[in-house]
Amino acid sequence: MTQTAEPQVAGETTSPPRISHWIAGRRVPGTSGRKGPVYNPATGALAAEVDFASVEEVDAAVAVAAAAFPAWRATSISRRTEILFRIRNLVEQHREEIAAHLTREHGKVRTDALGEVARGLENLEFACGIPHLLKGGFSEQASTGVDVYQIRQPLGVVAGITPFNFPAMVPMWMFATAIACGNTFILKPSEKDPSASVYVGELLKEAGLPDGVFNVVHGDRVAVDRILEHPDIAAISFVGSTPVARHIYETGTSHGKRVQALGGAKNHMVVLPDADIGMAADAAVSAAYGSAGERCMAISVVVAVGDVADPLVTAIEERLPKVKVGPGDVPGSEMGPLIIMGVSLLDRVTPEMDSYRNEIFGPVLEVVRVPTYTDAVQLVNDNPYGNGTAIFTRDGGAARQFQFDANIGMVGINVPIPVPVAYYSFGGWKNSLFGDLHMYGPEGVQFYTRGKVVTARWPDPSTSKVDLGFPRTR
Ligand code: NAD
Repeated sequence: MTQTAEPQVAGETTSPPRISHWIAGRRVPGTSGRKGPVYNPATGALAAEVDFASVEEVDAAVAVAAAAFPAWRATSISRRTEILFRIRNLVEQHREEIAAHLTREHGKVRTDALGEVARGLENLEFACGIPHLLKGGFSEQASTGVDVYQIRQPLGVVAGITPFNFPAMVPMWMFATAIACGNTFILKPSEKDPSASVYVGELLKEAGLPDGVFNVVHGDRVAVDRILEHPDIAAISFVGSTPVARHIYETGTSHGKRVQALGGAKNHMVVLPDADIGMAADAAVSAAYGSAGERCMAISVVVAVGDVADPLVTAIEERLPKVKVGPGDVPGSEMGPLIIMGVSLLDRVTPEMDSYRNEIFGPVLEVVRVPTYTDAVQLVNDNPYGNGTAIFTRDGGAARQFQFDANIGMVGINVPIPVPVAYYSFGGWKNSLFGDLHMYGPEGVQFYTRGKVVTARWPDPSTSKVDLGFPRTR
């Protein structure tokens, strides 16, 4: 099941293991001649090389997915659910192996990698409830002898393009619901840590998913651009940085596709003067430096209101030297390796500074000091990103007001990383999401299906007559 190195002949130099595409239920070596390096961030060593797909290879994968669609769509909901339960159980059984791929290629520590798999697993569990989720509506006797009902049908071939920071969870946000709804799926994972997606493809096959329902094509912009314009791809889910998200949304929709494109973030944690300082400092450090800050829901800005600033900054500073940075597979490591820096805290930041205006996506926490709650809300709402935010307070009324005031997609109340559970949907506002529907959960089901309304009469031949008038309901 694990990625294996190619056989080595004595006397020859070692060639790095090769990560191939996953198409029609098997590993398919690339033919384009293009490839990219995959590094182990803990050592800096070249860990593998990944094939990059050409336009023709993307087309071949889409053809496989399109061919698999009619039979998968016609597969009964109970049979699809049975396979989803098996997928869920296999991912659960192999969570350590998946996590090891993440640690080896992304660098995140084992506990964090296991947490990522667990949050992905929630989406598979949600998808196991697809019989309930696909129920439509029925109106009996909408007109005399006429019933009207709505059904939801899959779209066809759909694609997912995913970022490097969650190589297992974000694909599961997408494909779990997509295939449960009866679509077939093309995944283009990040080229920086691509192994987990092929490993998961093997688990899906073992669970009984028919070949061609789930496919992985690796690559760079060449593959993405072909996905964006391919006439047989009906919808695209994207997660990554804001400039690319905007490009995906604009290009995909201009080719007539349904697109949801989640972008970057700058998440603020507002701390009111009545907050428990120790709890707020623990939360800020955990949410800012966990996974080396490479989470779209990481806290990157603490907004310290009034006289909470000095004691809060002191409490955060006290905690920083205790963060253990080390290789992800060494027990006790809390933050995995990163190319640029260790934990960093920038105090007295103002909104004009470059560090505030840009997404850093690393272990950097900034503190902006503001005098009042109103200033804090304005800062949060003026920011062009709108992914997540949090408030720390013991005042229920203030927290409720913040939930009302914040122009942000996901809000935490004394919870620094408010990633919604799988039966709600995930998505930001403003420059953090392009499109209408959020990802996974009920909105995911809506995204991966389209409604059809049927108006039906079972005629009684004895009452049949010609009537050229417009159909009436009364
Ligand atoms: P990225 O935008 O560089 O890459 C994402 C995907 O797009 C990858 O598969 C990559 O191969 C592809 N890609 C990159 N450049 C492209 C281009 N010019 N044209 C076409 N395709 C291209 O993002 P990343 O560095 O892998 O991930 C980090 C970013 O993702 C951060 O900005 C982070 O905030 C964001 N992110 C957002 C969420 C969310 O839910 N909103 C979740 C995770 C990560």
